[in-house]
Amino acid sequence: MEQVRIGKTVLRLVQGDITRQAVDAIVNAANRHLAGGGGVDGAIHRAGGPVIAEECRAIRERQGGCPPGEAVVTSGGNLPARHVIHAVGPIWQGGAAGEDETLRRAYQNSLRQALACGARTVAFPSISTGAFRFPIDRAAPIALSAIADFVREHPDAFDEVRMVLYSPDDFAAYRHALARLFSAS
Ligand code: ADP
Repeated sequence: MEQVRIGKTVLRLVQGDITRQAVDAIVNAANRHLAGGGGVDGAIHRAGGPVIAEECRAIRERQGGCPPGEAVVTSGGNLPARHVIHAVGPIWQGGAAGEDETLRRAYQNSLRQALACGARTVAFPSISTGAFRFPIDRAAPIALSAIADFVREHPDAFDEVRMVLYSPDDFAAYRHALARLFSAS
């Protein structure tokens, strides 16, 4: 299963590169210092250009970064997307340190920011499942149910929420989770 409809909103899985998505807002898997890094963060800064790092620096100076579970917004620079929502996921510490709830909040606070900047189409990477080592089979159902719950609570907000999975294995994990979550509905 690669997409479901939740009211007027399509929740869709695609395999690809988030920097290429023509949506109103893309989400970055950032770190709490908003300092740039490897993985999807590096790819977004490279593709979007220096304006994104400049805006991140201004946010850092103003509020000292962004704690896990929260999200902040910059412009998209040279990206096709108008906004970048920098979400900070949890660093995996074995699963008993509140990682599931922090991951859920990272998705929901990202959608809250998307709503606030008027984005009707939003694309997410798989937050925390790279350098932060959150197991993807555990992360995928948390991500999808966090998105689905937010969309149900805000039925007029979004046309499409897209999960952009970089590798075939990541895509398979999310497809499996989507089927499990929605097969009975
Ligand atoms: P985190 O530090 O939150 O774990 P990472 O960037 O290390 O973030 O990894 C998050 C996920 O993003 C990983 O599954 C990784 O494969 C994926 N990823 C890396 N580059 C891209 C990209 N250009 N588009 C979409 N996803 C990407």
